[in-house]
Amino acid sequence: MASTAYAEQSKTEAVTAHVLWMTTGLSCEGDSVAMTSATNPSLEDIILQAIPGMPKVIVHNQVIDYAVGQEYAQAWFDAEAGKLDPFVLCIEGSLGNEEINGDGHWTGFAVNPSNGQPITMNEWMDRLAPKAAAVVAIGTCATYGGIPAMKNNPTGAMGVPDYLGWSWKSKAGLPVICIPGCPAQPDNMTEVLLYLALHLAGLAPAPELDEALRPKWLFGRTVRESCNRAGFAEQGDFATEYGSDHRCLIKLGCKGPVVKCNVPVRGWVNGIGGCPNVGGICMACTMPGFPDKFMPFMDEDKYGAMAANVIKFSYGPIVRYFRMRNIRREYDVEPEWRRRSSTLSSGYAKRW
Ligand code: SF4
Ligand code: SF4
Repeated sequence: MASTAYAEQSKTEAVTAHVLWMTTGLSCEGDSVAMTSATNPSLEDIILQAIPGMPKVIVHNQVIDYAVGQEYAQAWFDAEAGKLDPFVLCIEGSLGNEEINGDGHWTGFAVNPSNGQPITMNEWMDRLAPKAAAVVAIGTCATYGGIPAMKNNPTGAMGVPDYLGWSWKSKAGLPVICIPGCPAQPDNMTEVLLYLALHLAGLAPAPELDEALRPKWLFGRTVRESCNRAGFAEQGDFATEYGSDHRCLIKLGCKGPVVKCNVPVRGWVNGIGGCPNVGGICMACTMPGFPDKFMPFMDEDKYGAMAANVIKFSYGPIVRYFRMRNIRREYDVEPEWRRRSSTLSSGYAKRW
């Protein structure tokens, strides 16, 4: 039995999955930089096959690769020629609309040997997406357009699902997988990549995604639902200035109640840091409506402020009063039988 398990394990470990990570969309490479601080799993855990049973994963990303120039670009031509199989295509940055690029191009990567011209990101998508086992959009630019796709942008920028189609499926039957965030939370990225590697090796089911193509287990809850300041909000207690005030930040512009993100509960690096949980307003950087629908960031949200006022001037103070009173009178006080005495008063009844 055990030897069969080892045999199965070594079979999986013999699979090589390539991650072709293109940072050459309209991007700042912030997601690639963020990924280097992942801890659970870390990038090194994935590359060095530290997790038993996982396939060998080779990550091609220009921020961390030793190879440069044509040598670095070769993997993409090899993937197109069918020499790297399976491969996962990761896109960072939004895709400019090359149909309106005039005489130039918005974004390109490597050069077309036939004419010496840059190969646009749109062309790479057309060449590689049909051959990829999975396409992963990383960061809010690649998932939903993000900052480069703001109102009045000149490039017609869009996210990967806007380009490929929201119902697009890879040759392995997977929809575009979106890991939003600006940048994406480090462990969210490595966790999904590891999950995909295990899925492609036949060891895990396909990831469950929501209607915006986000992994459900990461983006199912709102920021408010997992924020450590939510208790203050429930009691109608709100901060009025930035700093050491630990109360709810809604009146300073926090968008947490209407944003899906796990950063307050996961922290940023190894559980440390975050946004509203450590004093910075949530500006909704994971959301498809980001940034336009949430600006100006530091202005109080109309509906959030309305809800806060209802709580503040109705049941909030009552909850706070009775809770504090109960704590003071009841729960901050030890039971009366815990004392020095010659008699036992805990209520213990001797049975034999
Ligand atoms: S999503 Fe944010 S961090 Fe990622 S490329 Fe875009 S701007 Fe940079
Ligand atoms: S808590 Fe808000 S600002 Fe922070 S990462 Fe999540 S969505 Fe972005």
